[in-house]
Amino acid sequence: MICRHCNKAKVNRPRGLCWSCYYKPGVRELYPSTSKYARRGVGNFSGQAPLPTCSTVAKPGSPEKIAILAERARLKQSLWHPDDARLEDDICTTDQAA
Ligand SMILES: [Zn+2]
Repeated sequence: MICRHCNKAKVNRPRGLCWSCYYKPGVRELYPSTSKYARRGVGNFSGQAPLPTCSTVAKPGSPEKIAILAERARLKQSLWHPDDARLEDDICTTDQAA
């Protein structure tokens, strides 16, 4: 692999950077960590999160639901509300219709 910054030297530092780029001031900030252990998004916190102010009918995995989860995380609320729409709700409806 070749350094993402200078495209010359061999990668031997994290974030796909070579040694000299990695330690050059300002360069590291240009390339977010590629490690799956690094903090991402709004970050994690531990402890009891308050329930979201309202539940959602957005289906799990839908773009609407993702947006709602992101918003809840931003507000430091619990990601899950007991009254949220679930995939099982969908399956039950289908069963009744059949
Ligand atoms: Zn480099």
